[in-house]
This record gives sequence, structure tokens and C-alpha cells, in this order.
Amino acid sequence: MFRWSDLDGQAATRLRSALAGGRVPHAYLFSGPSAAPQLVAARFLACAVNCQRAAGARGTSGGDAGEPCGECDACHKIAHGIHPDVITMEREGASQMIPIETVRRTIARLGLPPHEAAVRVFIVEEAAALAGPSANALLKTLEEPPQRTLFLLCTVAPDGLLPTIRSRCQRVRFGGSAAGPRQAAEAGDASAEARREHLAALAAELGQPARAGAARWDLPARICEGKGEAPLVVEGALRVLHQHATQAAHVGDLQAARSAATRATELLDLHRAMTVHNAQPQLALEALLYGWRT
Ligand SMILES: [Zn+2]
Repeated sequence: MFRWSDLDGQAATRLRSALAGGRVPHAYLFSGPSAAPQLVAARFLACAVNCQRAAGARGTSGGDAGEPCGECDACHKIAHGIHPDVITMEREGASQMIPIETVRRTIARLGLPPHEAAVRVFIVEEAAALAGPSANALLKTLEEPPQRTLFLLCTVAPDGLLPTIRSRCQRVRFGGSAAGPRQAAEAGDASAEARREHLAALAAELGQPARAGAARWDLPARICEGKGEAPLVVEGALRVLHQHATQAAHVGDLQAARSAATRATELLDLHRAMTVHNAQPQLALEALLYGWRT
């Protein structure tokens, strides 16, 4: 079972101390890279505020404060996605947006008391996938939060949210991967290091400036070989392009700086399409590289 110690230190410390001190706000915004465990943490927090055993032991269990038992009825139902008061709003359809009907259905429930939970929890799987009307409807609720209700908004693109939504939530930033530090350590430092170097080489290739020649056509396939790694390569390529733009601007080559900046913008859009709207990474990368062909 997942434990708070599987999260990176700062995020876990903040959430545990809020739980231990009974200071859990009515809304959190969990943000971090696509490999970070925002959603896992949200479900775990839903367990922690509703665990039937942790509630009795809170304040007396020392180091385990805020750690759900994982065995009681509430923990069991939440872990299996069948708790009637822990609702996840998910992306749907080809557009991979959260439909307004889902948000309306959720808000309609707020007038009624929770079925069995101490704290009703609404998890938004990807808050940047709330279209304008959905975001506005949710915002109204966040402005007047009902009792015994906790909103957990997860996102890989916090800048894509309405500033008014961001300001209504306590922000917790996640880093690292969902595998957790224990598994990462078990995987071995040497192979992890080789993997990092491989991803950095792919990022350098993807982020090369226009004048360095066209990218090889098998690049999208090579980037997508490692499952779930395409967003990491795109993030690396963004850093490479930022460096190119800065260096070009320093030596007065404004055309090269502009070209690198344009590519960076397109890569940002691609990153958002992959991480927020679940675009198929290889197809999206191929389309982008066709556009870059000179
Ligand atoms: Zn429990």
C-alpha cells in the first residue's frame, strides 16, 4: 500500500501536518510534471480524511498521524473507486475534456449531506481539462465551499487554470515519479543514469534549432519507445530551445532567437495536448516535425 513516505518530502510533510493538526483546507491544487503522483496522492488523502481507524487514533499515533489504515471499510471502498462520497471527475471523449454535465451533476449533489463519509471528496483528475463554463461553475462552488467537503484539483498545467481557481486552492507542488523513492532506489542508480542520458540526447535532438538541419524521421518513434516518457523529452527539448534562444539573442541573431522561441511555443502546445488531452504522442510529434520541415 502507498504511504506518505512514498511522496517527495515537502508535499508529504505539508499534507501530513495539515491532517495531524486538523487544518485541511476546503480545496487543494496538486500540481507537478506528468510523471508525478498527484492523482495517487489525491486518492490517498481522500482515504486519510475518511479512514475509520486513523480518525480514532489521530493525535495519539505519533509518527503515523494522518496515515490511513488501508483496511477499514472507507479505505477499502475509496481504493476500489466505489465509495459513494468520493467522486472523481474525469476527462471524456475525443476532446478529452471534463464535460459540463459532469460538473453540474457534482454540484447538484452538494445540496445533500454525504451518504456515509466524514468528509465528501471531489477529485478533478486534470483541472486544465475543465472548459470555460465548467471552470466557472466549479469556481462558484469554491467561493462558497459547503461543509464537510474537500476539493482536490490535480493538474500538470497549473498555468492553464483560471487565476481565480488557483487562488481559491492551497497549492501543493509534486516532483519526482509515481514509482516512489523506494522503487526508484531498487531500480538501481546506474540504469537510471543511463536512462536520463538517453532522454537528454533525445531532447537535444528534438530541440535543435531550425538551422541545424531537419530532425530524423524516426525521432518520434524513438521518443515514444519508453512508455510515458515523451512529455519528459519534450520538457528537455524546451530547456534546450530556451538556451538556444537566449544565446542567439545575446549575439544579436534575432531571427534565430525568434525561430527557437516559436518552436518552443509549439512544443508547449504539444506538451499540453499530450498531458492534458491525452493526444497520442507519436502522432502529435510526427505532425509537429512535418510542420518544422524546411
Ligand atoms: Zn482506514
